[in-house]
This record gives sequence, C-alpha cells and structure tokens, in this order.
Amino acid sequence: MAEDDKLIPKPRSRFLRVKCDDCSNEQVIFGSASSKVQCLVCGKTLAEPTGGKVRVLTKIISVLE
Ligand SMILES: [Zn+2]
Repeated sequence: MAEDDKLIPKPRSRFLRVKCDDCSNEQVIFGSASSKVQCLVCGKTLAEPTGGKVRVLTKIISVLE
C-alpha cells in the first residue's frame, strides 16, 4: 500500500541522485532547487524549478532522505 509512495518521488527537502542522459555523469541535486541544475560535466540541464519543486529532466537513480 504505502510502498507505492517510493515510486513517485515527492521532492521537498530531499536530495535526488540523477544520471545525465548525455554523458552518464551521476550527480546529487537538491529536490527543491530554486534555479536550474546543470550537469557538472557536459552542461546539460538536469532539472529546472517549477513553483517550489524541481522538475527533473533526466533519470532519477534514487531519492535520498
Ligand atoms: Zn552530462
């Protein structure tokens, strides 16, 4: 029942581990970043802010509490 919650990250004050689609760089980003997050390696936009939450534009590997 509550297990389903794990499938849908609810970004608040969490950190998300993501993987860049372009260069496979793994990076940890803040779940409620207020500015664009770019890949540190290739500069691809990995996430952008959408009204308090962050929209992740690449793969989320895991959610860190
Ligand atoms: Zn990259």
